[in-house]
Amino acid sequence: MTNDTQKKIDLIVVGAGIAGLVCAIRALELGQAVTLLEAQHEQKYACATRMSGGAFHVIFNNVTLPPEELFQALKLGTKGHADLSLCRAIADHASRSVCWLRDLGVKFDRLEPDRGWTDTVLAPLGYQDNTELVWEGLGSDVMMQTLESQFVAKGGRFLRGHRARRLLSEAAHCTGVVVEVDGAEISFHSRAVVLADGSFHGNRRLVQEHITSDPDQLLKRGPTTGLGDGIEMAQAMGAHLLGMEYFYGHLLSLDALHNQSLVLFPFIDFLASAGMLVSPRGLRFADEGLGGRYLTNRLAHTETGVAFAIFDHTIWECEGRSFHSAPNPNLVENGGTLYVADSLEELADVANIDRNALCDSVAQYNAALDAGSLPRLDPPRTSAGTKAQPIQKSPFYAVPTCAAISHAFGGVMIDDRARVLRQDGSPIEGLYAAGASCGGIDGGPEAAYVGGLIIGAVFGLLAAETFAQQH
Ligand SMILES: Cc1cc2nc3c(=O)[nH]c(=O)nc-3n(C[C@H](O)[C@H](O)[C@H](O)COP(=O)(O)OP(=O)(O)OC[C@H]3O[C@@H](n4cnc5c(N)ncnc54)[C@H](O)[C@@H]3O)c2cc1C
Repeated sequence: MTNDTQKKIDLIVVGAGIAGLVCAIRALELGQAVTLLEAQHEQKYACATRMSGGAFHVIFNNVTLPPEELFQALKLGTKGHADLSLCRAIADHASRSVCWLRDLGVKFDRLEPDRGWTDTVLAPLGYQDNTELVWEGLGSDVMMQTLESQFVAKGGRFLRGHRARRLLSEAAHCTGVVVEVDGAEISFHSRAVVLADGSFHGNRRLVQEHITSDPDQLLKRGPTTGLGDGIEMAQAMGAHLLGMEYFYGHLLSLDALHNQSLVLFPFIDFLASAGMLVSPRGLRFADEGLGGRYLTNRLAHTETGVAFAIFDHTIWECEGRSFHSAPNPNLVENGGTLYVADSLEELADVANIDRNALCDSVAQYNAALDAGSLPRLDPPRTSAGTKAQPIQKSPFYAVPTCAAISHAFGGVMIDDRARVLRQDGSPIEGLYAAGASCGGIDGGPEAAYVGGLIIGAVFGLLAAETFAQQH
């Protein structure tokens, strides 16, 4: 093992997505000497940030709402799962972080129709017009290039092909990191380390341990560059992990497992949550009213990982046409399977679903909807998120569906200043984390989603500012 003696380093930032770049630039602004380590070699390396839709929101609210309003939305929407001090930090710093990005030259636009949260989207737009993952030259890719140029222009050291593998410590204080470079190991010594290496869904062992016993059933909707290194390194230093079992994802066509044209959109979420989601045995297994992310998490835990969205013609013509690259007509146009039949019996036969069970499930659902007793079904069907619609107007439809993961929600526990914490709540000196490598914000039993980009920006800023205050 060799030592990196090239330069004085105050702060090492591991991972150059939004969290790492924001943190690294902010630390430079505050007079620190920063080295940014990125595992990948390519100029336009893949990462969740570069391949994201670029919509900055706070739990699907406009980032510029008054902080108290954002805090209440976070508190209600995360249903007791999220740490309230982290919610407060997001609410207080969301608008500031977006202004700070604008000041650096990051450009935003507005996505129509504005659903109340799509007016701060990285420019240029165009990402949401495709069913496959097309990102080059679009908003998120352009932001990444802007941030990297700013970092280098301000005197930061950006090292590609440097994968952090172990943390160095002295007297329980993090003092640097051991990095793998072309098969060799180099030690980088610093006053502190920020973990910003993304989610862990590219780490098969962690996915199998926490999310699903069969990771192959889970479609990867985006890059698998989050390797879980930061989580494993922090855990080895005593960090506590939170919320590891939940993930951000959507229901996609089962054909997306082998058809790239369906890997981004259309979501099957809205069809399943207006109608119903059944197993190949024709049985409901989750509360469709809790929406697509919840259903996706539940599907990942089923034996086969395959389910069918069942709905009627009214739903196909209404919810089927909602959201970006909607299923109607993009599903079939891009090679996805849509079973259509004049009766439920026929539908079950063509889709190879248990016929009696499907007809019973739909009959029970329609009767409960008429009687106002949906919450008494087993499993209950609520309408807090998506209103239940009858399944009665032919033709009837079935879409074979799989669970697709964009990123895992779990990660290291941090406080509202981005310091990594032990289980007893004490900070590990010299160790910070930001972005998707952190847990305790999104997730929980209903798979609440706060917003990956805003989490990265806010805690990237806070990690740098806390470090600068302490040193
Ligand atoms: C398809 C898709 C669409 C999305 N759309 C949106 C959206 O519209 N709005 C929104 O808010 N969120 C969206 N998200 C989520 C959001 O993109 C992520 O939550 C966020 O970008 C995570 O940022 P990050 O900096 O934490 O991680 P990343 O962007 O994943 O960056 C982590 C970096 O760390 C590097 N790395 C990994 N391990 C190491 C190591 N050991 N050493 C050094 N480097 C390492 C990786 O190569 C990577 O470059 C989307 C995600 C996906 C996949």
